[in-house]
Amino acid sequence: MTASRSESLFGRAQRVLPGGVNSPVRAFRGVGGTPFFVRSAEGSRITDVDGRSYIDFLGSWGPLILGHAAPAVIEAVGEALARGTSYGAPTPGEVELADLIVSAVPSMEMVRLVSSGTEAAMSAIRLARGATGRDLIIKFEGCYHGHADSLLVKAGSGGATFGVPDSLGVPEALARMTLTAPFNDLGAVERLMAARGGEVAVVIVEPVAGNMGVVPPATGFLEGLRQLCDRHGALLLFDEVITGFRLGYGGAQARYGVRPDLTCLGKIIGGGLPVGAYGGPRALMERISPLGGVYQAGTLSGNPLAVAAGLTTLRALADPAVYARLERAGATLEAGLADGARASGIPLTVNRVGSMLTAFFTDGPVTDYASAKRASTERYARFFHAMLARGVFLAASQFEAAFVSLAHSDADLEAAARAAREALTTLR
Ligand SMILES: *Cc1c(COP(=O)(O)O)cnc(C)c1O
Repeated sequence: MTASRSESLFGRAQRVLPGGVNSPVRAFRGVGGTPFFVRSAEGSRITDVDGRSYIDFLGSWGPLILGHAAPAVIEAVGEALARGTSYGAPTPGEVELADLIVSAVPSMEMVRLVSSGTEAAMSAIRLARGATGRDLIIKFEGCYHGHADSLLVKAGSGGATFGVPDSLGVPEALARMTLTAPFNDLGAVERLMAARGGEVAVVIVEPVAGNMGVVPPATGFLEGLRQLCDRHGALLLFDEVITGFRLGYGGAQARYGVRPDLTCLGKIIGGGLPVGAYGGPRALMERISPLGGVYQAGTLSGNPLAVAAGLTTLRALADPAVYARLERAGATLEAGLADGARASGIPLTVNRVGSMLTAFFTDGPVTDYASAKRASTERYARFFHAMLARGVFLAASQFEAAFVSLAHSDADLEAAARAAREALTTLR
């Protein structure tokens, strides 16, 4: 059999790109096999270089809430493109996007645009440290906030309160400044605060975790974090890079009614182009350069093409009917998976909030990283390939979210639910 175009491209890619990819999970290491290379995508569908087409529930890992190549986004980016790609000087679109973000997200009075979620989280943490004059941060196991050194940290062993590097190249001295707690475990945060609260600059959390698979916050968890931060003079940072404009126009903070001090955004606000943002109250944000002493800058920050894509995307989301539709679509997919699990007898726990969901191959419940890790990655790998063979593309890892977009038709959702029922049967 001759190699497919994807296989031969992957062969070439591995010679010049580490692992053949520019971001690790694209390499399919979590599920095995050869990744397909994309030729094009439109609406709910992605087409590979061999001409196979899939219903896509990856949505570029979250940004594409309008689907691929949304006509309004293509048009806006095209218009911006014709006027030039970058100026290194301010543009009207940046003001419009900032206005729109601060009017949508309850806790944000000012915002700084950057070029990725990683950069947003890294910069927001610098701001929190600069503003509080404290060095420690608290993060939650299984939450991902991009790959800045301070955030690639896992729990130390035994009763250690300090973190250890989760990647080679992260200095131990830096990792020790990141304390970790299990997601949804307020008691653990309380103990960390009791021991070191006076040194904690910021608690960073995904208000709905998406990067260990979808894990919703337990009742009272986010409120409890708010109270603990207030009691100990620490800032609360919601990393809404996924949840911002996905779980509602005001993000998770509007959905759950908890107001963080700082918020990170990314993904959807760039409409599929590289963007991140961080923001909060005026008094805090005015500590950033050029007004304050916390330095942060970017050659392509507020890039006009990305801003055009983001603005167009956010304007399309300004209608509450959009989120009602996403909720229904998410529920349809969830029901399909749950039916398939019942019919096949495969243990499956589906966690869903709005249009983001994860089917964990475990009896559940999945409430934190430890319970997520009980899921069978081997079963997920087989499920992933069984779905791919049926024309449905999911994330190439058990510990990621599936994203429903406004481009998914009822027929797409029914086809995916049918594929899931069949795929689950093959796993018995
Ligand atoms: C994707 C993601 C990031 C990192 O964003 P990049 O644009 O990939 O750097 C940060 N936080 C969360 C919650 C994310 O999902």
